[in-house]
Amino acid sequence: MAAADAPAHAPEYVRSIAPYVGGKPIEELAREMNLDPATIVKLASNENPRGPGPRVREAIAAAARDLNRYPDGNGHALKHALAARLGHSPDSIVLGNGSNDVLELVTQAFLRPGDHAVWSQHAFIVYPLATRARGAIGTEVPAKDYGHDLDAMRAAITPRTRIVFVANPNNPTGTWLAPAAVEAFVDAVPRDVLVVLDEAYNEFLEPSEQSDAVAWVGRHRHLIVSRTFSKAHGLAGLRIGFGVMDASVADLLNRVRQPFNVNSLAQAAALAALDDTAYVDESRRLNRDGMRVLEAGFARHRLRWLPSHGNFVLVRVGDASRVYQMLLAQGVIVRPVANYGLPEWLRITVGLPRENERFLAALARALDATADVGSGANR
Ligand SMILES: *Cc1c(COP(=O)(O)O)cnc(C)c1O
Repeated sequence: MAAADAPAHAPEYVRSIAPYVGGKPIEELAREMNLDPATIVKLASNENPRGPGPRVREAIAAAARDLNRYPDGNGHALKHALAARLGHSPDSIVLGNGSNDVLELVTQAFLRPGDHAVWSQHAFIVYPLATRARGAIGTEVPAKDYGHDLDAMRAAITPRTRIVFVANPNNPTGTWLAPAAVEAFVDAVPRDVLVVLDEAYNEFLEPSEQSDAVAWVGRHRHLIVSRTFSKAHGLAGLRIGFGVMDASVADLLNRVRQPFNVNSLAQAAALAALDDTAYVDESRRLNRDGMRVLEAGFARHRLRWLPSHGNFVLVRVGDASRVYQMLLAQGVIVRPVANYGLPEWLRITVGLPRENERFLAALARALDATADVGSGANR
């Protein structure tokens, strides 16, 4: 009997993973539709539309001179700067190739096949992906008003549960939990279960709403808070994020991570970005203003949207794959979210003012052309 090909020997739990589908790259749409990339508007991946600020660009250019050298595998300078900023010791910080890497590292260090994790319906899809890649299983807890139902998530914890994932604000719904409710949840979770609190969009919250969760790590040793430079800091292309956790947990993540998981340009850029608080403040303002413009546009079309605490918003358009295609044909890329169990919705990242206007004009044309959409999607 002929032996099976190598792919058939991959674990069943790997073969059954549905690949991550990201926002369509600008160059790909340009090729497919024969468009000039410069005319394409991408509002599909919650990127900061401003690009990195001048000080960060300078830091990247300076660091580029030393690209023959390996990066500092311990991220000394950045960890010390983060530690000072966050009031923790450097050995409680783990740097990642994006915060996605930190999420992966937690599953790598803590999940064995058959273990269990908990996340919410409509939560960031990397939680099930990272869990299943370890042969672990998960419970997707039904959402409440599109957001996390923390009581139900607490109740879903079993003796096999090792990790609970909470995104705050959540992507793609933009829902947000008040910090007091999150801390009460962390307190209610058994000490032998890690709570991974993903705060990729924390900087977009108004300062009065911003989470203090990093400070809770001192009294909750089973809490990991992850943050990123990809969103408000505008560095998605460089891939850098970090987790804050008890030093004993950080030590385990550091054992399984690649020795040089964060490249030198990313470390230099993040160090400069950390100091540029004005850039983040301006990005927050731009986002807030752009959000109001998008909401007004949705209201004009009598479309339902979910009030969002991130730099993106979910809008219900009915036949979302059709509207998505019609937007693509006009050179506007947004994000379909059927894979999040939201087949009637599209997720729109807040862009620059002219990008928001381009999107709204394209949306108006798409809705006009899809006569059945209006009736299907009205509130
Ligand atoms: C974008 C995002 C991340 C990860 O982004 P990185 O670029 O890997 O840092 C993590 N969590 C949520 C909820 C996100 O939307």
